[in-house]
Amino acid sequence: MLKLIDVNTYYGNIQALKGIDIEVDEGEIICLIGANGAGKTTTLMSISGIVPPRQGEIFFMGRPIHEMDPDAIVGLGISQVPEGRRIFPLLTVAENLDMGAFLRNDKSEIKKDLAYIYDLFPILAERRHQAGGTLSGGEQQMLAISRALMARPRLLLLDEPSLGLAPMVVRRIFQIIEKINAENRTTIFLVEQNANLALKIAHRGYVMENGRITLADSAASLLSNEAVKKAYLGI
Ligand code: ATP
Repeated sequence: MLKLIDVNTYYGNIQALKGIDIEVDEGEIICLIGANGAGKTTTLMSISGIVPPRQGEIFFMGRPIHEMDPDAIVGLGISQVPEGRRIFPLLTVAENLDMGAFLRNDKSEIKKDLAYIYDLFPILAERRHQAGGTLSGGEQQMLAISRALMARPRLLLLDEPSLGLAPMVVRRIFQIIEKINAENRTTIFLVEQNANLALKIAHRGYVMENGRITLADSAASLLSNEAVKKAYLGI
């Protein structure tokens, strides 16, 4: 579904990605783990076209997307949930969700998706007329994921969904991520510092260090890999 080939991405003179190769199959949950500054967010930004690669190629469903604008990439079915949630704080929950569907005009399907989301996160239905900025951190994360789902993506890019949230809320959000993957066959590309949780729901994982992919394996193998345990799982 998604293929990154020798991707090199820069911020001015700083090279954040140094020739990375990643493949994601349709229906998978893939996680990308690594320390602070390894290049995880930059990988997502390169895929979504926000920080396009200077060299290398990215294919989505067989089409080259590395030179496309971010909105064209969203239009193809890739939605990103940025780190730190970034919902529209002054808009209501319902308005935030409407914004997620701005590229669509299939009204009856949009209505169905909204009902699905309110079923997935009943708290958002309860708070639909409340300003997004007044929600708790966990609720804002739910809203950010839901807003991305309103675009009906085939591939959902999630950047650190656990950041700054209480363990119970994180567990709930990870259960929902698994559910979205299982029920809709939405493919998930998950960037996480919480490697333990991410590897528990992922099918496969990649480990990133200093802008390079250093390991790629099934999530089960990475969970039992001694180097991964020591560096990322605190065991
Ligand atoms: P974290 O887990 O802390 O979010 P990360 O693995 O997502 O880290 P990136 O945010 O992709 O890492 O950063 C990769 C490298 O690129 C780092 O060295 C970082 O300092 C640098 N970088 C990121 N954004 C910018 C920017 N806007 N301008 C300059 N350098 C940047």
